[in-house]
Amino acid sequence: MKKYQTKQREQLMLFFGEHRDRQYTIEQLAYNIEGIGMSSLYRNINLLVEEGLVRRSREGSRKFLYQYIGGGDCAHHLHMQCNQCGRIMHMDSKIAESIAATVQNDSDFSIDTAQTMLFGCCADCKAERKDK
Ligand SMILES: [Zn+2]
Ligand SMILES: [Zn+2]
Repeated sequence: MKKYQTKQREQLMLFFGEHRDRQYTIEQLAYNIEGIGMSSLYRNINLLVEEGLVRRSREGSRKFLYQYIGGGDCAHHLHMQCNQCGRIMHMDSKIAESIAATVQNDSDFSIDTAQTMLFGCCADCKAERKDK
């Protein structure tokens, strides 16, 4: 399949790249990205999901949240996903390397950092729990 590098795609990638630690609904993306139509937004986002650059997670029964997870050094560090809000965080590469090295030394096991997701609870959700 031929890949078209359209202007809309570029805008989308640019926006995601600047907001790597947040997830958005399709409506929020449409609102934040100027001049992008709903149909081209859907087409481009589906392509990015297929290519593994954007992760789609389900929020409620009908809503999806999108977050950028590809590009740059994402293949070289670990990712952490919050069980509560679904947000994905990018671990500092140095910390990821030291975890990988520790596991390697202890168990002679090489972690595939690009594929590994750690699950837990993010700072925001923990703070919210304390508020209640
Ligand atoms: Zn990353
Ligand atoms: Zn959270």
